[in-house]
Amino acid sequence: MSIALDRREAAETLPHAAAGTSLVGLTRAQLGDALRALDLPERVIKMRVGQLWHWIYFQGVADFDRMTNVSKDLRAALSARYTLARPEVVTEQVSSDGTRKWLIRMPPVAQDRLAGKNMGAEIECVYIPESDRGTLCISSQVGCTLTCTFCHTGTQKLVRNLTSQEIVQQLVVARDQLGDYPGLTAPTNGLIPSGEGVRAVSNVVFMGMGEPLYNFENVRDAIGVLSDGEGLSLSKRRITVSTSGVVPEIPALGDQAGTMLAISLHAVRDDLRNTLVPLNKKYPISELLQACRDYPGASNARRITFEYVMLKGVNDSPAEARELVRLLKGIPAKINLIPFNPWPGTIYECSDWETIERFSDIVFNAGYASPVRTPRGRDILAACGQLKSETEKLRARARLIEED
Ligand code: SAH
Ligand code: SF4
Repeated sequence: MSIALDRREAAETLPHAAAGTSLVGLTRAQLGDALRALDLPERVIKMRVGQLWHWIYFQGVADFDRMTNVSKDLRAALSARYTLARPEVVTEQVSSDGTRKWLIRMPPVAQDRLAGKNMGAEIECVYIPESDRGTLCISSQVGCTLTCTFCHTGTQKLVRNLTSQEIVQQLVVARDQLGDYPGLTAPTNGLIPSGEGVRAVSNVVFMGMGEPLYNFENVRDAIGVLSDGEGLSLSKRRITVSTSGVVPEIPALGDQAGTMLAISLHAVRDDLRNTLVPLNKKYPISELLQACRDYPGASNARRITFEYVMLKGVNDSPAEARELVRLLKGIPAKINLIPFNPWPGTIYECSDWETIERFSDIVFNAGYASPVRTPRGRDILAACGQLKSETEKLRARARLIEED
């Protein structure tokens, strides 16, 4: 155990060559600024940004020399000052069900250096292949300031917002790992969905670490990059932002990002939701549901997903299922029942299968498709609410070693 820790400490002291200089993950505006810093005349900036955009996001190149329509001089100037470095993939774990989890180490950003760290954020990112889609679960923060009692991430102390670049880089890493760029033919290895027009990563959900609406601007800017049709080309209908209920930011998400919305509801009464999702004390269920009724763009074709984690003896009675149906009346909704994923030290248990089925039947008979989300990647702690970065685990281990 201590050997692993020593290795990690040694790595922390190594300088990261690409720190702060990679163009990968930047928005069009940020790329424009990067080109201005090379003294390019204003009249060519937009055109040059378009070229970089195509090579970085559509073709996925990692070498300036492959940008064949960019002049040699500019390529030299670019590589003297910038890189196309990706964050490091520290580990890859593949679950028996094909789910993959990557531990990604970002180079340090200004905020890390100000905090006296020469190591950047470490983020776990999960890829879930299914027959007709591939979903990437990405993080918006390291840790989370909220303290939902059933969520492992909420127990992590270390918290900071990810930059929009760090958010985009998670998709870039996944596309690198899966060989999946719009400008490339997706590999047909049977492990990931493929076929005419099918991308290995076809959907993105902000259901990793963090509360995306507490980092709204960076999430919005990142969504702009992910959904740009000349680059990474994800449809906004295939990007879902999940929130525990930051009511004041919900209209802005609809207006400025235009993605699908998921609400972590988990309880039908304020007293219980106050315990499970303490943010409810600030924004109670009635206000949250009103924000959903008003969500820009919601319709029967673009339903809001309500996530409901099944906790044994806590929120899983038939009466609660009926109340859930009553509460959601008039909202174009889908209901996602999530079997609770246990983690070490939790006080909760997952509801029994029969209880989940009974709950699901009531919801289904009321006219809602109520898929029970099959837990994926449980064996590699990649399921919802199990994400917690390796650094934190190592710190906890270090504390144990110190206490020994
Ligand atoms: N902070 C956001 C997004 C990240 S959490 C949010 O809370 O919505 C993604 C989803 O996983 C949420 O619905 C969350 O409630 C759920 N979740 C958290 N811990 C879980 C656990 N241990 N088992 C099952 N689902 C969990
Ligand atoms: Fe944060 Fe979401 Fe976990 Fe709550 S459920 S602690 S908001 S990550």
